[in-house]
Amino acid sequence: MNEEVNLAANAAAAAFRQYATSPGSKRAQFLREIADGIEQLGDTLIECVNRETALPAVRVANERARTCMQLRLFAGIAEQGAWTGERNDLADAGRNPPKPNVRSCLRPLGPAVIFAASNFPLAFSVAGGDTAAALAVGCPVIVKAHPAHPETSALIGKVIGEAAAKCGLPNGVFSLLTDGTHETGLAIVQHPLIKVGAFTGSQRGGLALWRAAQQRDEPIPFFAEMGSINPLFIFPETLARNAELIATGLHASMTLGVGQFCTQPGVIFLVEDDASRALLDRLAALVSATPAGDMLSASICESYASAIEERGKMQGVRILASGESASHNSGNAGRRAGAVLFVTDASTFISHSGLAQEVFGPSSLLVLCRSTADYVRCAESLQGQLTATIWAEDGMCDNSDLLWALEQKAGRIVFNGFPTGVEVGSAMMHGGPFPATTDSRFTSVGTRSIYRFVRPVAWQRPAA
Ligand code: NAP
Repeated sequence: MNEEVNLAANAAAAAFRQYATSPGSKRAQFLREIADGIEQLGDTLIECVNRETALPAVRVANERARTCMQLRLFAGIAEQGAWTGERNDLADAGRNPPKPNVRSCLRPLGPAVIFAASNFPLAFSVAGGDTAAALAVGCPVIVKAHPAHPETSALIGKVIGEAAAKCGLPNGVFSLLTDGTHETGLAIVQHPLIKVGAFTGSQRGGLALWRAAQQRDEPIPFFAEMGSINPLFIFPETLARNAELIATGLHASMTLGVGQFCTQPGVIFLVEDDASRALLDRLAALVSATPAGDMLSASICESYASAIEERGKMQGVRILASGESASHNSGNAGRRAGAVLFVTDASTFISHSGLAQEVFGPSSLLVLCRSTADYVRCAESLQGQLTATIWAEDGMCDNSDLLWALEQKAGRIVFNGFPTGVEVGSAMMHGGPFPATTDSRFTSVGTRSIYRFVRPVAWQRPAA
């Protein structure tokens, strides 16, 4: 057993009772101290994230604001206490047989392991949404740092440790595992003292860790968010009326953050007509003028390059446009990626399952259909998704076959918008049927995400 893993798991288990039974106001204070500490890191943090991930300073500052907002939002949840959802069935001694009193509420599951994501080095990393949700409900947290931003992880980990000390909480309430190997991740998931896990990243990594969690002598819940191709279905009349808005919005959503979002629009369905031909021309012009960008790591860039190469060789698929290519740039060449727009038809899309696989990066696939009837066939052929988007006139898709098909496939349906940009709130659903996640009943963004870290307990007493 990896010694670092063992120490962290034992410390978390030792801290569990004190932390789980601490008043909500104490956990709220802890979360707010973490948010304050992150803000106090100032430019040191921004520069560190920028250096490690190549994300621009403005994006990092926005992500820092979101991270601190999340921490304070969950502080409010902890303080308010309504999350426990207490229920009380009163006793009835006069009933035959007598009815007992049963009271129940949600309680924290126990020590949680959180796997940080590479594409959100703050908001889904050491002090990100998963950590905030687990800490809010009383689970000690062990974060497996992402190897792509070790210094950022260490800076934030130090802030959390200092916040715990300031709040008089035991050390084991938070630990950071920094040894970047698969073995460490697998060992912590398999450790008998760990009771729940959450992950954001690749399907391969998520499934390996989920399997490890299920194969334990005592299987545990393990929530993996593993990405999605986020289909868009654009109705012809709506496209004709909103041509420029759709073209520029789609291009921006496709290339935002060098395409490194699990909500990136990977496939767009259009009916082949004059309006869609004009959209193709406009998108081709926008993509051709797109500068290459630095990806999060050389390995993510390598995966992107090989996925693009493979897609380019598929029969029935052609490249409509490419942006500035990586080779046009000196410096940081191993991480630079250019946008690529592919086009195919509905039959090819349905018959090649590889076209429904995520390409993580600034690339999308346009699928030309004969009519909107093809939209339903294509939607039914999809696997589980985080999001699905419909561009249609108001009310046009209510009770439609397409909406029904998409509700079976996706966690969030977007109308007349773009899937990137996930609001953090009480109604948000960021999840979806497999393989978008390992459990479609839960969200990893928003206040409902706490339900991944709790279980109901009932107390029964006889009628007096
Ligand atoms: P990743 O390879 O899935 O890694 C995420 C975490 O899981 C890391 O801590 C990694 O740590 C661990 N891990 C990965 N494979 C593992 C395995 N077989 N056993 C145990 N632990 C494992 O994600 P990434 O490095 O961020 O990016 C790779 C790909 O993931 C991208 O190209 C993209 O396709 C996808 N991605 C998806 C999302 C999303 O939002 N769903 C976000 C980012 C990336 P170690 O390597 O240290 O073991």
